[in-house]
Amino acid sequence: MSTLLIKNGLVIGPHGQEIQDILIRDQLFVELSPVIHPPDDTKIVDAGGKWVLPGVIDPHTHMGIPIKDGHSADTFATGSPSALHGGVTTILDFTVLESGQTLAESLDARIELASESLCDVGIHINITRFEPEILAEIPELIARGFNSFKVFTTYAEANMMLTYDQIEAVASIISQHNGVLMVHSEDNDVVTSSSKPFVQEKQTHPRYHGLSRPASAELEAVRQLGEISSRTNCTIYIVHLNTADGLAKAAEYPLLKVETCPHYLLLSEKMYERGDGQMFVSSPPLRTEADCEALWQGIQNGQIHTIGSDHCPFCLADKPDGMAFQDIPNGMGGVETLFPTLLAQFIDRHLDLELLIRLTSRNPAEIFAIDHLKGGIKPGLHADLMIVDPWSIRDDWESSLETSLDWNAYTDYPALFPETVIRRGEIVVEKSSLKSPSTGHILKSN
Ligand SMILES: [Zn+2]
Repeated sequence: MSTLLIKNGLVIGPHGQEIQDILIRDQLFVELSPVIHPPDDTKIVDAGGKWVLPGVIDPHTHMGIPIKDGHSADTFATGSPSALHGGVTTILDFTVLESGQTLAESLDARIELASESLCDVGIHINITRFEPEILAEIPELIARGFNSFKVFTTYAEANMMLTYDQIEAVASIISQHNGVLMVHSEDNDVVTSSSKPFVQEKQTHPRYHGLSRPASAELEAVRQLGEISSRTNCTIYIVHLNTADGLAKAAEYPLLKVETCPHYLLLSEKMYERGDGQMFVSSPPLRTEADCEALWQGIQNGQIHTIGSDHCPFCLADKPDGMAFQDIPNGMGGVETLFPTLLAQFIDRHLDLELLIRLTSRNPAEIFAIDHLKGGIKPGLHADLMIVDPWSIRDDWESSLETSLDWNAYTDYPALFPETVIRRGEIVVEKSSLKSPSTGHILKSN
């Protein structure tokens, strides 16, 4: 493996920006120092005047999963190049537990699909059936290096839901083996009773998707999960938290970790009134502008720990105009725009870029126990980084996207795409264009 030197970059750390040279060898960061004199055969990348940031860990993607009668519109092969283009060098994706499958079989099937990924991939294990044999697999899977599991408090109709009692039993086992339990947190009773009148009145407009999954559904689920975390001593990670009330409740419980997503920070329920409103249907739904602002506050006061894309894209043809809200496949894309739009927002709001790095790199690495591999620019860790020209913020970036999807939610927002992206020491994006990267690794927790 060749040696690479990133020269004169502005490295963002706890003490602000410092000009540093970064030496990379055999896929790893080797040295960080104001001046490094490299060996003769070193390839040098000049980062003078530019920010050098860790590669992003997106803790929440769904590449090619079955939803309603179809599949989310990106596979690992199509979604991962666009992730790299947006500075995401690691994605954490989820298994799909088919009927009759063991958890281990679902994991092996997912690992095989993920072998096409150009990003490195960690895998969370979905538990959508509550059976003794399934529970017995949890310690074995943690010992294999897969320590994060996900359950759902809703989607009873799709046979994916666990009751709170069942979730508590799962949390107890996970806690004993130092794993993490991730939970989709919308109370099923609240969703069922709230959606009933709209179904009876035969309402179809996408706005009723939002009204049928009210903020009170998140509040009740977060309260129940907070109590479960306290009783079981289990770290519970609330995926895609999106309401002010849910956030305030989550802050009461020290073992809850909170993820939100760009769409809950940037887009409000007003999107459902647009001509393409059906494209914004995802679960949980978009909320009020006051909720968006509360989440920005939560980012600043440390109540939100990570930002995941929940990348689950669909094309225009998958969500035709006029489709009834309950038939619209739920999900939106966002892995490619995740970091570029957030970075532009952080600059606009004068927020600390070190905070952005924590949310998108260090915290997900620590929570999912891959911090022996990733999570910052530090000797010994995988050499994942991006170089960003602070002056290259743009509004007209849509045509330069790597994705082949025909719709994205963020066209009205400025974005700052990286110029260079390096994944495990390999230059995978140069002059903002994707090269021909080798495939990624499957990551295991420590
Ligand atoms: Zn998701």
